[in-house]
Amino acid sequence: MVAKMSITGPRGTYDILPDESRKWQWLEGLLRETAELYGFREIRTPVFEHTELFQRGVGETTDIVQKEMYTFADKARRSLTLRPEGTASCARAFIQHQIYNQPQPVKWYYLGPMFRYDRPQAGRYRQFHQFGAEVFGSNNPFVDAELIVMMVDMVFKAGLPQYDLRLNSVGCETCRPSYRQALVSFLQPIKKELCQDCRKRIELNPLRVLDCKNQGCREAVTGLPRVADYWCNDCRQHFTAVTQSLDRYEVSYTVDDRLVRGLDYYTNTAFELLVPGIGAQNAIGGGGRYNHLVREVGGPDVPGIGFAIGLERLLSGVEEAGALPVFSPDIEVYIAVTGREYEASADQALRELRRAGLKADRDYMGRSLKAQMRQADRLQVPVVVLIGEDEATRGTYTIRRMQTKEQYEIGQADLIDEVRKILVK
Ligand code: AMP
Repeated sequence: MVAKMSITGPRGTYDILPDESRKWQWLEGLLRETAELYGFREIRTPVFEHTELFQRGVGETTDIVQKEMYTFADKARRSLTLRPEGTASCARAFIQHQIYNQPQPVKWYYLGPMFRYDRPQAGRYRQFHQFGAEVFGSNNPFVDAELIVMMVDMVFKAGLPQYDLRLNSVGCETCRPSYRQALVSFLQPIKKELCQDCRKRIELNPLRVLDCKNQGCREAVTGLPRVADYWCNDCRQHFTAVTQSLDRYEVSYTVDDRLVRGLDYYTNTAFELLVPGIGAQNAIGGGGRYNHLVREVGGPDVPGIGFAIGLERLLSGVEEAGALPVFSPDIEVYIAVTGREYEASADQALRELRRAGLKADRDYMGRSLKAQMRQADRLQVPVVVLIGEDEATRGTYTIRRMQTKEQYEIGQADLIDEVRKILVK
């Protein structure tokens, strides 16, 4: 006996059905347009890469690499991984195509699915979508500010004017070792109060203890040394320049000294964008400067900075705020015929409408005229073109405006002009 096939999609995945995809197209369009206003160009990388890229580019000690990757061996026994994020692939492409030889900075954006073996819950999926932006080749703090402003601008344009932007600097290779040491000295004596993961982090990655979500850890680490007290002069100046630039853009922020990115190739600016009132998963996006990532994955020491926005969370925030736009109907004109003998005229009208760039459709189910009108109603079509015996003999069409129920006859040659006139109203 053949085992019964599962007809539900894998856990943590979902379908975007046509009723929903309009929203996605709108959101993606808005993000693309905004990115292009800021001089970003799109990059598309494969959805899988050599596992090693993420081990090095995301970091061996991160939860993503330790617990959440979809890793598999292909038929030639290469270890491949479905991308859990987009930055490592961008860095790989930057090196592979020697983009560092081109005029810098290089500003890229991407949009697409990411994969993490996370515990699914509201706002958290195993296949989810991100919009991301990366700038390679400049350590100018104004680049940091511009990128943050673009992220805020995107969320604002999507209809969420209220935001909570958290900002910090994690220091650099010069000053972070002493901060790290100070953290270790503080954490060692209180080790017992920390969760299992954090106990390991003290040696591996002590900065990560700062953003542990565990309540016990949060309490235990109050009073812990602040990174700002360890910044070197360059880091202090960089951070000040970022904040001054944000002030000029009139983008408000909160300095949050617990906001960290734990890996050594992260430097200086770290930021996160929260949106109030959208539930527990209210982090819409985040990013940071990664001046040594390109070197880490095998390229020259080229600085970079980037962020990613989670599209599911952004879209659900927009929906909850009631900020979705009203979409135009999928079909603009519906052709209804009173009998099969008029189907050729229906096809003729369809062809003309579509050639003119109007979205048109007709009945293919042999419905009665009444049922065709009901279908037109269901499709929320603004215009119906009726073709029956009178119209066929006179060389005309009857136009019905669905909103006003007004009905009148026009010459066949006037079809396009008439429909356009109705649609602009
Ligand atoms: P990260 O790449 O972890 O910095 O995440 C950036 C953004 O992607 C987050 O702020 C979320 O909005 C979104 N995100 C991350 N993981 C998931 C997930 N498993 N499901 C849905 N959205 C996610």
